[in-house]
Amino acid sequence: MKITAVGGYKAVGRNMTGVSIADETIALDNGIRLDTLQIYDEDTNQLRKRSIQELIDMDIITQPDRLGNVKAQVVSHGHLDHFGAIPIHQPKTPIISTPYTIEIIKNEYRQGDYISLDYRQEHELSRKFTVELIEITHSLPYASIVVLHTPEGDVVYASDFRLDNHSLIARPDYKRLRQLGKGHVKALIIESTRVKELGKTPSESVVRKKLKDVVEFIDEGIIVSTTFSSHVERIQSIIDEIEKKGRTPVVMGRSLSRNVSLAKKFDLIDLPAETRVCSSARASRNMLEEIDKGRREDYFLIATGHQGEPDSVLSRMVDGRLPFRFQDGDSLIFCANVIPTPLNKASRYILETKLNRHGVRVFDRIHVSGHSAREDHRYIMNLLKPEHIIPCHGDMGMRGSYAELATGEGYEIGVDVHLLTNGKTIDI
Ligand SMILES: [Zn+2]
Repeated sequence: MKITAVGGYKAVGRNMTGVSIADETIALDNGIRLDTLQIYDEDTNQLRKRSIQELIDMDIITQPDRLGNVKAQVVSHGHLDHFGAIPIHQPKTPIISTPYTIEIIKNEYRQGDYISLDYRQEHELSRKFTVELIEITHSLPYASIVVLHTPEGDVVYASDFRLDNHSLIARPDYKRLRQLGKGHVKALIIESTRVKELGKTPSESVVRKKLKDVVEFIDEGIIVSTTFSSHVERIQSIIDEIEKKGRTPVVMGRSLSRNVSLAKKFDLIDLPAETRVCSSARASRNMLEEIDKGRREDYFLIATGHQGEPDSVLSRMVDGRLPFRFQDGDSLIFCANVIPTPLNKASRYILETKLNRHGVRVFDRIHVSGHSAREDHRYIMNLLKPEHIIPCHGDMGMRGSYAELATGEGYEIGVDVHLLTNGKTIDI
């Protein structure tokens, strides 16, 4: 069996790994790199206007042609760093994922040959490969651990996950993972973004408690909160607090409203009848005019712009580019962390400085990560007992940290835990 590191083995983002037996290859994920996308000031709609070679040279997408005879493209979950290059590469092979993730990909690329799989449902991809998706918790609905059953043993691909035992919308399928561990896991390919963090990543229930504490505390002005558009469980937590506060929920911004309507379709979110969802620029303007003229204490907004993105609703509100003025006593709740790239840090600094000038109270870091910490990783390693481990999705420091953790569990670097670089293939 050969494992090829295509993308995500140098920096965070543009994830792609190939697994090959004889002349058959399965591609796992096919993402874009979001921080370089920002540097070139592109958005995903503009990407298709550029040539594939240009995007490869810009370090935004990978070179999947390194993989040869690909039989299928499997996608672990609906984050752009895992599927965002599919609309650009337009694979001719079937694209396999959960029904929810497929809906997300279809928003960007309708023409694909999609195959929806429920969790634990096995599907034959080729003579050598059968795929199965296993339920896991992350920071959006319907994330999966991908398993490739092969004549040489199972390949488990776990990129991105956390172990949240109190999630309201998903459960880690420990039972199935334990079963796999009793068989033969030939290789575990596993994300490594937060292995350096000690302990375990807290559950989303911790965010719910922090959020309740902050929302109860605020007693004047408009409340605006911002979070990741695809983080449906967190949006629900915010909505629940708005309802308790007796304010009108307003969801604002294209990506937020698109995710909310998809979540409604899959019965993952429960919105109060009075919720206002503004999916177009015009609807947002009208709504903000209404709020600015009315009693601002009656409203609670959820808006895009948690990283201080200059064209987000939040930045435009702060700059007065929308018909709304922040006032002394208004509050902003960041239900997100700053993704630590120099560009994001600068944008957030600018946004917070402007908010301060308007007298807005800022509540920060009402957030827990969607990625596993060190003990979560140790737990999964011991559950699956893989013969080989290939840390993925991370720079050399992150993947090196994983390798160090594995050596503590009896693995040996270069023998059964492997640090690959983009473009390298290993024979195991
Ligand atoms: Zn993810």
